[in-house]
Amino acid sequence: MEESKYNATVVGKILLTPDIMTLRVDTDEPRNEFKAGQYTVLGLYGNEGRSPNSTPESDPVDPKKLLQRPYSIASATSQLQQFEFYISQVKSGQMTPRLFNLDPGDRIFVSKRIVGVFTLAETPENQDIVMIATGTGMAPYISFLRSYLMARPESKMAVIQGAAKQWDLGYYSELSFLGDTFNNLFYIPTLTEADKTWTGHKLWIEEMLEKNILKDVAGIEVDPGKTHFFLCGNPKMVENVSEWLMERGYSKHTRREPGALHIEEFWS
Ligand SMILES: Cc1cc2nc3c(=O)[nH]c(=O)nc-3n(C[C@H](O)[C@H](O)[C@H](O)COP(=O)(O)OP(=O)(O)OC[C@H]3O[C@@H](n4cnc5c(N)ncnc54)[C@H](O)[C@@H]3O)c2cc1C
Repeated sequence: MEESKYNATVVGKILLTPDIMTLRVDTDEPRNEFKAGQYTVLGLYGNEGRSPNSTPESDPVDPKKLLQRPYSIASATSQLQQFEFYISQVKSGQMTPRLFNLDPGDRIFVSKRIVGVFTLAETPENQDIVMIATGTGMAPYISFLRSYLMARPESKMAVIQGAAKQWDLGYYSELSFLGDTFNNLFYIPTLTEADKTWTGHKLWIEEMLEKNILKDVAGIEVDPGKTHFFLCGNPKMVENVSEWLMERGYSKHTRREPGALHIEEFWS
C-alpha cells in the first residue's frame, strides 16, 4: 500500500443516536483560516472496518482506495487544529459506516482545503438571518453561532430545526441555552412525530413559514431586502422551502449572482 495519507487523530466521538454522531478530530498541522459554513473532506481507506450497526455496502471498495467525502465543519472558526463534525450514518454507504467505526486515537485523513460558499458571515451586517435545517444540516449553523453570535447583536437570527422525534434534535441543549441567553437569537425546533411530553411545535417547516411563525416569534420579515435565508438538510425540505421563498421574491445566492437564499445540499 502507498504511504498512508492519514494526517489527523480522532479525539472525541459522541453518538446521539445509533446513526447520528459528533466526531472531533485533531489535525497534525493547523489549517488556514476559514469561514463558518464551509466544509472540508474527510478520508478513510477501504480496508477500514465498518460499524456493526451498518449493512453491507452496495459497491465493494478497493481496500487501498482512500474514500473521501465532504463534511461541514461544526466547530468555531477560532479552532484551526481541532474540528467538530456532525455526521449521520447511511447504513449501506461507503464512508459513514467506516466513520462510525472509529474510536478516539484512530487516525483519519482531513483535507488541507476548507471551502464552500455557504458562508453566513457574508450577509450584510444590518440584515436578519434565518437558518433552517433538518438532520446534520445543523452543522454549518453551529459553527456560525459559535463563531459570530456575539459579533452580530444588530441582526435578529432564527434557527428553525425540523426533526421527527425529540432525540433527533442534535445540539438541542446548546441551541436552547443560546436562545435563552441572547435576545437576538430565536431557536424554533419542530417535531413531526413528537410524543406527549413535547410541548413545542409539531408542524412541517413549510407549514411553520406559512403560519407566519418568524414574524410572530422573532419579528423577522420574509423579505429578500431584509432577511437572508439559509437552507441545509433533507433535499425535499430544501426544494419545498426554496419554492416557497422564490414565490416571495427570493433568488438563489451564487458566486456570480448574489441572492438572499443560500442553499447547501448534502445529497440529491
Ligand atoms: C458540501 C457538503 C457538505 C456535507 N456535509 C455533511 C455533514 O456535515 N454531515 C453529513 O452527515 N453529511 C454531509 N454531507 C454528505 C456526505 O458528504 C456523504 O455524502 C454522506 O455522509 C454519505 O456518505 P457515504 O459514503 O456513507 O454514502 P454513499 O456510499 O456515498 O452514498 C449512498 C447514497 O446515500 C444517499 N445519501 C447520502 N447522504 C445521505 C444522508 N445524509 N441521508 C440519507 N441518504 C443519504 C445518497 O443518495 C447516496 O447516493 C455533505 C455533502 C456535501 C456535498
